[in-house]
Amino acid sequence: MQKTIRLFDTDSYMQAFDATVLSCTADGDRFAILLDRTAFFPEEGGQSADGGTLAQAQVLDVQEKDGVITHYTDKPLTAGQTVHGTLDFQARYLKMQIHSGEHIVSGLMHRKYGFSNVGFHLGGEITMDFDGELTRAQLDEIEDEANRIIYENVQITAEYPSKEVLIATEYRSKLDLTEDVRLVTIGEYDVCACCAPHVARTGEIGLIKLLDAIRYKGGMRIHFLAGSAALAHYRKTWTDVAALSAMLSVPQSDVVDGLRKRDAEIEKRGATISSLRRQLLDYKIAALEQTDGNLCIFTDDPDMLALRLLVNAGVRKCTGICAAFSGNDADGYRYVMGAQNADLRTLSKQINAALDGKGGGSAQMIQGSCNAKECEIRACMESL
Ligand SMILES: [Zn+2]
Repeated sequence: MQKTIRLFDTDSYMQAFDATVLSCTADGDRFAILLDRTAFFPEEGGQSADGGTLAQAQVLDVQEKDGVITHYTDKPLTAGQTVHGTLDFQARYLKMQIHSGEHIVSGLMHRKYGFSNVGFHLGGEITMDFDGELTRAQLDEIEDEANRIIYENVQITAEYPSKEVLIATEYRSKLDLTEDVRLVTIGEYDVCACCAPHVARTGEIGLIKLLDAIRYKGGMRIHFLAGSAALAHYRKTWTDVAALSAMLSVPQSDVVDGLRKRDAEIEKRGATISSLRRQLLDYKIAALEQTDGNLCIFTDDPDMLALRLLVNAGVRKCTGICAAFSGNDADGYRYVMGAQNADLRTLSKQINAALDGKGGGSAQMIQGSCNAKECEIRACMESL
């Protein structure tokens, strides 16, 4: 089959082109289109395919096999027809920025630490994998150097060298290729075998930001950003920090300290609430009146231990069952019940059935939750 002419090989800035349709075949609900030439970069080496249009058809995917590039579209085209192709160049240009940025970082990693890039993903997530690990401080150094190479605005070239030149050249490569090797050179900094479109000068990358690095397959996986994606990330982060700063009423530079302070305040308040609840419990226990029969108490204290302490005290104040409920009619209640003269284990089935509840325990004490209303609970406790 006729190999497709790769227009992006020599001109990565080509946004539109004309080509002849060689064939069009149905492929499920899509159409597989072969052209004599294309500027659409296929999914390759971890980079997702370019999008755009071919005449009126939307390009949904682009795949390459043995030099033949297939465009998958939503509408059919006619063989022999000349079509105008237009790339979604904004998305493609970002991929160029990121891919060139990846080469800079991988080149530095290789030169400084001898690590190889063993994986690259440029689709939804942007990651690069290395066969060794670095500390955050070392990554920051790499990031600084990578950005210095951007400021230098170094030229980036791509070419297919002769066999002789190739043998004499030192370059990074994931595959052991000897033919049709396309070398992407970034000034004095890096030479790497690569078939993807790149920016012409490093200044176009704008910014390289290494995000988190996690341990991965004996090495590390780095999430990173470059170009307009790095700017978008900075914008979102800045907006979030500005919102936090307003919420905490502290300058943006102090939001972490501000949050720590707020956490400490919340903890202090929690301790005060616990202490007040304990005092309130003591008052409640002291206020329990001697009761003939069952004693039913409602409280808003969500602490099960407090409920048990209340019931322990209540059991001594009544002749029947002492039951404490915490909650409300809308969300339901949690309960603890105690008794000195009844077997609660036997009664718990009857109680849970009546109150749409669940729970259990010993003959002297049971606990659980129920979905009944206060009036239903009071009626049930009176009937026992
Ligand atoms: Zn590459």
